[in-house]
This record gives sequence, C-alpha cells and structure tokens, in this order.
Amino acid sequence: MTPAPRLEVQSLTRSFGGKPVVDGVSLTIAAGQVTCLLGPSGCGKSTTLRMIAGVELPDTGRILIDGAEVCGPSHITPPEARGIGMMFQDFALFPHLTVAQNVGFGLKGDRVSRAARVGELLERVNLTGYGDKHPHQLSGGEQQRVALARALAPRPRLMLMDEPFSGLDNRLRDGIRDTTLAVLKEEGAAVLLVTHEPDEALRMADEIALMRGGRIVQSGSPYHVYMKPADKAAAAFFSDIN
Ligand code: ADP
Ligand code: MG
Repeated sequence: MTPAPRLEVQSLTRSFGGKPVVDGVSLTIAAGQVTCLLGPSGCGKSTTLRMIAGVELPDTGRILIDGAEVCGPSHITPPEARGIGMMFQDFALFPHLTVAQNVGFGLKGDRVSRAARVGELLERVNLTGYGDKHPHQLSGGEQQRVALARALAPRPRLMLMDEPFSGLDNRLRDGIRDTTLAVLKEEGAAVLLVTHEPDEALRMADEIALMRGGRIVQSGSPYHVYMKPADKAAAAFFSDIN
C-alpha cells in the first residue's frame, strides 16, 4: 500500500471582510519533499501556511497529515498537536537562553538524550562549539541556523517556513539556502516553504506551487514551471531573475 502523503490540503478557503484571500487551495507534499509556495506579496501564501499550522482557521476545506485529518468540518487538532515545526522571517531566538538551550527548548526526554540531539543538530548546522554562547554573540546567519536547529529538534513531520531568509544579508543568502536545504534533506522532513522570490524556489524546491490571487495557478517541478509557464503572468513573474 502506498503511504498517505505527509501533507494533503484539500480546497482550503478563507475570506477576510468578505474578500476571498485563499480561494480553493489544494496541494500534496510527500515525506522528504520540499515544496515552495511561490507568488507575489498579498496573494495569500502566509494565510495558507497559517491555516496548515493551525493558528488560523479556514472557512472550508480539509487538511490531513499522514492521512489523518487535522482540520475539517468535524475535527480540529490544535497547533501544538500537529507535529509541525515552523520558521519565520523573524525567527526570534530566546535572548536569555544559550544556543544549546534554545535548540533543546522543545525537547522531551531525559537530559542525556536531549543533549545528544542538541549536539547532533549543532553539528548539522555547523555550529559545534557554539552551544554556550548567547544569541547576541552570533551573526544573523548563525542565528538563522540556530533557529533551524531549534525547529527541527523535535523531529517535526512537517516544516513550515515563511520567507525564512528574507531578513538576511544578500551576500549570505545563497549559502544559507544551500545549508538549510542540506539539513532539511538529512533530517528527511517534508517542507512547505513560502517565498515571493523565484530564484529561491528554483534553487530549493522539488516542486513549485505558483500562487496568484488566492489560487494555485500552476504546480510542477522547477524546470517545468520555469520552462513552461502556464500563462503570461507566470512567465512575467519569472522574467526578472538574472
Ligand atoms: P502573502 O503572504 O502572500 O503576502 P497574506 O496571506 O499575508 O499574503 O495576505 C493575503 C491578503 O489577505 C492580504 O491582502 C492581506 O492584507 C489579507 N489578510 C491577511 N490576514 C488578514 C487578517 N487577519 N485580516 C484581514 N486581512 C488579512
Ligand atoms: Mg506572507
């Protein structure tokens, strides 16, 4: 039997003040796959992500994780019970905690196993030896990697990332994208990454879902979406990449 997809979103809708912001979004992500939800500012990406996270409720539609409904007409699983890790542009580390304490914050179990998991993740993000430092002693890129390690520490089934690199210096961004992708792949998480930057989606995605005006207008491999844009607007959206 084929396993259920890690994430399945069916016909999600959400309006604010009578204006549809998410208008029938469906998507599927397999375990280990990175899907980028790509589209211009205001098209409904963050609202979609927030509904999957459970911090915003849809008007209609269903969300299933590993085949089990976490949001639907008859059942809503609270955010903290969905097994989801999250990362946002403002990744807000706890300033008064050390790097190791930040990474271990959401971990359960005994001290030895928690320390082992923290050590493993710090190694993955190339921050071995940084455990006793505080966030303010780190660069922006290093803080971003600590936030990634913290989000992945409890082994989330699904990682939701909303423009996680947009606060970073241009010079650092490509390197951090590559490191982040490598860590996500090593950990085997399914990832939904929201971005308005085509080059980011082309660099990181196994699959791109192109969104406009609350709808997914095209989805497929980066190659397919880039080479065979669904319409003129999709082509124009990719055309300012250099
Ligand atoms: P994106 O992440 O693609 O930039 P958003 O999902 O943040 O888009 O927002 C889509 C639209 O929905 C925007 O016009 C935004 O102003 C509106 N919106 C989002 N959240 C709310 C809210 N809580 N109340 C009213 N309007 C909202
Ligand atoms: Mg947004």
